[in-house]
Amino acid sequence: MNKCDCCEKLITKRRPGLECSKCEKIVHASQACTNLSTKQIAALRNADSLEWTCKECQRYTSIRRSYIIPEEEE
Ligand SMILES: [Zn+2]
Ligand SMILES: [Zn+2]
Repeated sequence: MNKCDCCEKLITKRRPGLECSKCEKIVHASQACTNLSTKQIAALRNADSLEWTCKECQRYTSIRRSYIIPEEEE
């Protein structure tokens, strides 16, 4: 059985986990264990190719962010 790396409780059907694509660490797909907002978690869940990296891995890789720049000023 897989355990959450954050709270050390089991990953279950009712509390599914997210696996880090870099270190394969698993944490619950919850706000408390991933530090993501519920919106971000929902987006990950609905994504075709789920790619998520844990806090530690994000820290060691250069974080790329997408900036959305509107073409017109309001
Ligand atoms: Zn957890
Ligand atoms: Zn990781």
